[in-house]
Amino acid sequence: MTNSKIVQLLHVQDDNRVFVDMADDESNPCLSCGACCQHFRVSMYMGEMASSPGGTVPDELVSAVNPVIVCMKGTEAGYGRCVALRGVVGKPGIRCEIYPLRPSPCREYRVWLEDGTPNPDCQRLRKNIGLVPLKPRFAVQGVAQC
Ligand code: SF4
Ligand code: SF4
Repeated sequence: MTNSKIVQLLHVQDDNRVFVDMADDESNPCLSCGACCQHFRVSMYMGEMASSPGGTVPDELVSAVNPVIVCMKGTEAGYGRCVALRGVVGKPGIRCEIYPLRPSPCREYRVWLEDGTPNPDCQRLRKNIGLVPLKPRFAVQGVAQC
């Protein structure tokens, strides 16, 4: 049986990057996971900071990496918890406190790939914290042209 509910909404950017927004309900596995938010160094061009034109990420939540790159505080060395993560990793209720303002690496990271199969990285990180693997979804994605 297929599930026609849109869990991932894809936004194609002018530069052809694809940003993803997840549904804010129980269909979204991220809301009981959070594993990726304590694994990667989440770095971005400093132009994504709210103090830059068009930027969104609150300045006080980032650390400098070099003169042009910043990263989310807590993730500087990798394997650290992002400062914007709220809740207990692997438990219902975990969430990103700045979801509408989050940086581009977080927007680009997908749970399910184009063909509906789970992102292998995501599966690995979930397994590391004891969560069950995600199943493929074949009617999961909506596409919005930005
Ligand atoms: S590891 Fe996957 S399921 Fe877990 S929060 Fe990250 S994207 Fe969501
Ligand atoms: S900004 Fe939000 S989505 Fe990105 S790593 Fe931090 S908590 Fe996760």
